[in-house]
Amino acid sequence: MSESKTVTMGDLFDYVEKKCDFHQRPGLHGKTTWTCYGDFRFTEEFCKAHNLDFEAVKEMLEGNGGYCDCEIIFNVVDDVSRETPLSSEEIKTTMRKGLERRFPQGDEGNDSS
Ligand SMILES: [Zn+2]
Repeated sequence: MSESKTVTMGDLFDYVEKKCDFHQRPGLHGKTTWTCYGDFRFTEEFCKAHNLDFEAVKEMLEGNGGYCDCEIIFNVVDDVSRETPLSSEEIKTTMRKGLERRFPQGDEGNDSS
């Protein structure tokens, strides 16, 4: 019903963080525990709910160091602005920027450019 509001990285972070259910266990010296299945199932749910291209979002997160749902919270939140819109253009740009930041001047591809 609502007018399509642009979905942002912040929305994804909030969703995944809630799903991972981060909390401190009082008895264990404040050790933080959370739920993660080692995959992107929460991200996939989010993408389906918002009609986003899950494969593209996944690649973008991996490009920024997040290789499963909980790693998004550990590795991606600090590097990608919450304001970043999850449009297909921005998703591609964000993936490229992440790769460039993490692998500066990488010549792995032996790309003659
Ligand atoms: Zn994880």
